[in-house]
Amino acid sequence: MIKVSNIERFATHDGPGIRTTIFLKGCPLHCPWCANPETWTLDTILMHDEKKCVRCHCCQKVCEKMAIDFDPDFKINRNLCDGCQKCMDVCIPEAISFSGKEMTIDEILEEISKDDAYYKNSNGGITLSGGEPLFQFEEVFKLIQILKEKGYHIAIEITGMYNLNVLKKVEPYIDLFLHDIKHLNKEKLESITGASKEIIFNNLDYLSKTCKEKVIIRTPVIPGFNEEIVKDIILYAKEKGFKEVNLLPYHSLGKNKWHNLKKDYVYENEKMMDKSHLSSYTELGKELNICVKIGG
Ligand code: SF4
Ligand code: SF4
Ligand code: SF4
Repeated sequence: MIKVSNIERFATHDGPGIRTTIFLKGCPLHCPWCANPETWTLDTILMHDEKKCVRCHCCQKVCEKMAIDFDPDFKINRNLCDGCQKCMDVCIPEAISFSGKEMTIDEILEEISKDDAYYKNSNGGITLSGGEPLFQFEEVFKLIQILKEKGYHIAIEITGMYNLNVLKKVEPYIDLFLHDIKHLNKEKLESITGASKEIIFNNLDYLSKTCKEKVIIRTPVIPGFNEEIVKDIILYAKEKGFKEVNLLPYHSLGKNKWHNLKKDYVYENEKMMDKSHLSSYTELGKELNICVKIGG
C-alpha cells in the first residue's frame, strides 16, 4: 500500500508534456512556506475549513473519541483522533476533509492509465511529488519499476533528503530529476527546513557524476530566506554541470491548507512574488551558458 495525498491529472508544470502528478505522503523537512503541509505526515489527517463551517456541532456529537471541541471555533485533538472520518460524513457543508489515502499499486496504475493517450501525444508522463516521494521508499520503488516496465516517462520532484543507497537504486529508472536546492548555507538550511546539507549535497554530487543531464535544479525563492543567494545557486548548478535551473517565485497558494490544518502560517502577510522580480537571472543564465527559467 502507498499513502497518497492527491493525484492531479493534466499537470503541465512538473516535467515535459501532459502529466499526471502523484503527490505522496511523508516529508522529512518542515519548510515554513510549504504549499503541501498536509503531506508531511503519513497519517490520514483531518482538515477543517473555517469559512465553510456553520457551527452545527454535528461533528462533535458523532465523534466517539471526543477529539473535537469548540471554544468557540473548531478545535481538533489529533492525539485522540483515530481518523474514522465519521465527522466528515455528517458535515453537510463539507467543512471537514481528510488528506491521505492508502492505495495499491494497481489502483494507482488504473488511475494514471486513464490519460495514456495524452501522455503519448504530448511526450508527457508521470511525475512523483510530495512531500518527499522517496519517503515511502520500498513501496514507491516497486511502483517506479512497474511504471518503467510499462514505458512511462518518469519525473520525480525530490528534496535530496534520503540515503545515497536509495538514490543509487532509483536513479536508473528515473528520466528526470526535479531536484530542490533551497539554500547553500548549512546553518540556514538546517535551522529553517530541518534538512541536512551534507546528505542533500552528497546526493547532488552523485547525480552530477552519474547523470547530470537528467537533473533540473529547482529553487523556491523565498523572501527573507534565500533571495540573496539565488546567483550562488545558479553558479553551483553550472559548476556541477546540471542543465537547467528553475526559480520558483514565492506564492501563497498553500496558505489555506495551513489554516485548515490549524497551523500558524509564517508568511501570512507576505505578497506573492512577481515573476519579473527574478527576470535578471535568465540573463545571468545566458551569460553563464546555463538555462535559467522562472517558474517550473
Ligand atoms: S459538522 Fe461541519 S459545519 Fe457542523 S460544526 Fe462540524 S465542521 Fe462545522
Ligand atoms: S475522524 Fe473520527 S475520531 Fe477523528 S475527529 Fe472525526 S469523528 Fe472524531
Ligand atoms: S520539502 Fe517540499 S513538501 Fe517537504 S516541507 Fe519542504 S516544501 Fe513542503
